[in-house]
Amino acid sequence: MPEVVQINKDTYRIEDVKSRFYLLVGDERALLVDSGRTTMNAKEIAEQITKLPVVLLNTHADFDHIAGNDAFSTAYMHPSEYVNYFVGGQKHPKPTAIWDKQILDLGNREIEVISIPGHTPGSVALLDKKYRVLISGDSIQNGRIYMFGVFRNMVAYKQSLQKIVKYIDQFDYVYAAHGTFNLPSTIIYDLLDAVEKIDKQEVDCEEIIVDNQVVKQYSFDVAKFLLD
Ligand SMILES: [Zn+2]
Repeated sequence: MPEVVQINKDTYRIEDVKSRFYLLVGDERALLVDSGRTTMNAKEIAEQITKLPVVLLNTHADFDHIAGNDAFSTAYMHPSEYVNYFVGGQKHPKPTAIWDKQILDLGNREIEVISIPGHTPGSVALLDKKYRVLISGDSIQNGRIYMFGVFRNMVAYKQSLQKIVKYIDQFDYVYAAHGTFNLPSTIIYDLLDAVEKIDKQEVDCEEIIVDNQVVKQYSFDVAKFLLD
């Protein structure tokens, strides 16, 4: 069983193996943000926490975020992510489109969808206006940021970070799926700095093996970027 940790009155983080997902509870319904890496019963876990209906949203469709998807009737997802979702062999549930700037109202708790392509084509972040928190998936975190292989796009990633900077006065903390739980909003600037240094070839990289392939690892204080 993954560890369930209550963050505040109506927010929970579920610590799966090397992957973290969240449950946001409103007055009328609850939103499960991703469904785990090895946890097949994410829906059950959520339903033990709240009696309200639970809906699922995937920040993106990499395998370590969709393990418990099967139990749901649909998964909210950005349409640009469908190709990544289906290429992994996932058939159920069928996704439901969410769009940039869309508001999901959980009942006295508005969650804004922010499209942040780059790590994957349809990655999204969620702005929890009530708690001034940005839930960032894999894109904004202080662990290893995977930017090698199909679907990754560094140009889009940098533009997405620049886009998030425009929201910086609306959140104080970042809740990521990997790395340290609870990061300051200023991590955005550190990641942007790092990406600019990679762009300008101002940093060295080392070649390492990840998932049986050679990738270039760029190490910064803030995070490590893994590129082709
Ligand atoms: Zn991930």
